[in-house]
Amino acid sequence: MLQCDYMIQIPRGTAYVLAGLAGVTVVTTGFLGMRTYDQNLQIESITKAAISANQKSKAELATASTTIASLRSDLDNVRNELEGIADEYRDERDKNEEFEDQIRDLAGTLDEFQKLNDIDEELLAKYSKVYFLNENFIPSRIRQIDDDFVLDGKEDQYFHGEALKFLEDMLERAKRDGHDLKVVSAYRSFDEQTDLKGQFTQVYGSGANAFSADQGYSEHQLGTTVDLTVPSVGGTYTSFGDTEGFEWLEKNAYKYGFILSYPEGNDFYIYEPWHWRFVGRDLARDLNRSSKTTFYTMDQREINEYLLELFD
Ligand SMILES: [Zn+2]
Repeated sequence: MLQCDYMIQIPRGTAYVLAGLAGVTVVTTGFLGMRTYDQNLQIESITKAAISANQKSKAELATASTTIASLRSDLDNVRNELEGIADEYRDERDKNEEFEDQIRDLAGTLDEFQKLNDIDEELLAKYSKVYFLNENFIPSRIRQIDDDFVLDGKEDQYFHGEALKFLEDMLERAKRDGHDLKVVSAYRSFDEQTDLKGQFTQVYGSGANAFSADQGYSEHQLGTTVDLTVPSVGGTYTSFGDTEGFEWLEKNAYKYGFILSYPEGNDFYIYEPWHWRFVGRDLARDLNRSSKTTFYTMDQREINEYLLELFD
């Protein structure tokens, strides 16, 4: 036995305890070791399962990607087809619209023809010693002028049916503005004009030509011309030109399509401040704008361009 001065003397009881402890430690360590080994096995198994699941997911993902790509391609095809159909539809629609436009244009042209056909071109023709109005000309749709607008003591007066509303509107407006304008004479037939000229000629001889149109040359036969006065003047006298009623007409008649046919200083007749002719609002407005141009100094072809809008 090895001698050792420092040998620790351990009591026998303690030694058993120590030995017991050592044994427990060994057993515990062994047990723990076993447990760790089990856990490792478990982790490995979970990891494997995870990897397997991951691989499966990847495979599924890949399949899904392929499916998506295939769907996208189908969608593109459908979209292309739809765009093709939309293009065709647009082409068709454009063609239809073009066709509709053509039909509309054609209808518009027909309407204008119809409108022109319905409007007597005589209504914008010049008559004073320039153009002879056919004795058979009778304006269409002649209507009676409201008695309120006719000078007391005069017989019933008639006017062109489509121009009548312009005349009555004008006279009504004048009345509201304080001017009691009255009709002395409106539509006169060829025969009436013949009688009238005969009467004037008997009294004034050939001097009657200066103020009374020969039958067939009178604007009154058109049905769109009217002689106006105020009760204080009482008839077709030059003094009407000095009244406020006349002044009102000079300022406003064009708004209703009326013009003074024979203004002061004209080369066709004596000055007739009472004699107003309906030529439509467009032409009357243009004539009102120009101080130099008058209806009778205008070119007939130029006047005819206003025919279509005569009653607008
Ligand atoms: Zn007249």
